Amino acid sequence: MEVVKTGLFRAAYFMYANTSVGYYYHSHNLATAEKKFKSIEKKAHSKEISFTYGNVQLHVIPFCLDNYAYIIVDLLCNSALIVDPGDATPVLEFFERNSNFQPIAILCTHKHWDHCAGNGELLERYPEIEIFASEDDGAYLSNRTFRDTEELHFHQPFTSAKVVAYEMPGHTVGHALYCLTPLSTHSSGDENAIKGNMESETELSIQRGLNDSFSNLQVYQYEKVIPRIICEEAFKANDGTSSELRKDSKYQSLLFTGDCVFLNGIGNMFECPSVVMAATLQRIVDIFPENTLVLPGHEYTHTMVRFTLQEVDPENPVLKQRLDTILRQRADNLPTVPAELRIEKQCNPFLRTSYLSTHHKAYLQKSSSDIVEILAEKKAKFTKELNAKGSSKSNSANSIS
Ligand SMILES: [Zn+2]
Repeated sequence: MEVVKTGLFRAAYFMYANTSVGYYYHSHNLATAEKKFKSIEKKAHSKEISFTYGNVQLHVIPFCLDNYAYIIVDLLCNSALIVDPGDATPVLEFFERNSNFQPIAILCTHKHWDHCAGNGELLERYPEIEIFASEDDGAYLSNRTFRDTEELHFHQPFTSAKVVAYEMPGHTVGHALYCLTPLSTHSSGDENAIKGNMESETELSIQRGLNDSFSNLQVYQYEKVIPRIICEEAFKANDGTSSELRKDSKYQSLLFTGDCVFLNGIGNMFECPSVVMAATLQRIVDIFPENTLVLPGHEYTHTMVRFTLQEVDPENPVLKQRLDTILRQRADNLPTVPAELRIEKQCNPFLRTSYLSTHHKAYLQKSSSDIVEILAEKKAKFTKELNAKGSSKSNSANSIS
């Protein structure tokens, strides 16, 4: 992208990613967000929500202008993992409210401060906490690393799910994805997390929103498209249907994608050429099952869907339906996460380069990396114009993601 290629931008990016200048920039954004949401009597850009998958509980923690951190609790041993705590405050508040849960590890997708600035305070409060990040990125205060596709093992018990780390360069050189697969308590231990996930039988239910008055069902009453399996199971789970009728329900893997893949979009390619990002995106499409739930680091879905409808794929019926769903979710301040990879493959243009190269005249015969490059340039122009028009910051992609 042009903006990434200029010398001035490269210098500014280096300062952001590698020096305390970035930390102060992020701190400024945190203060701006606090002021902004206080002035409109909101706690954050979105409501906190949570889900339960078997013995794993997922909490979606909104912070800053549009970031998400995630807390995953093993309900069997009450230990918890934290994904991308760019701000320690809402995470510490969560553990104050839920003092029976013990944080044992932080999973950092990448080194940008809005994904790891909270590591310091959390390490101070929980000195035993392990902080995982790829060796290439070396996120702030990280003390554990991994190889590509390595299953993570923690010093303290975390028995209800299997966590595998993947090196997925594109946004940064050392960007990581974490795939968490809840394990069946009835299983004798499945060595293949993803395939095992598809085989498992369990019940699935939706938990309460932590600080909200809306009911469990209301969270998903708008969900016509995403994520259908959760929606169906949620309704079954709440209408008193016997567990016998829910035998078909499956565990779904949770894929924490940071700033690599957003819902209906991708992050900026700050440190890698489009050929690297294109290879990463193809790998994601190839190796994860379609019912994998995608959990990105930002709430950008509305902007990404608008961009795709306006600039790339105006006749896509699934995308049109997705826009309706998202508008209703955002009107209620609900997160648009998670979404099934199946939906991303139907809507996210960056994951549809093969389709575009054979069906869309603007992209015919072009390589995946060329299409990713073109789409990224279009997306940057679109968000720049949107920001110039003074559109809501919470619905637009900022410069560091
Ligand atoms: Zn980033």
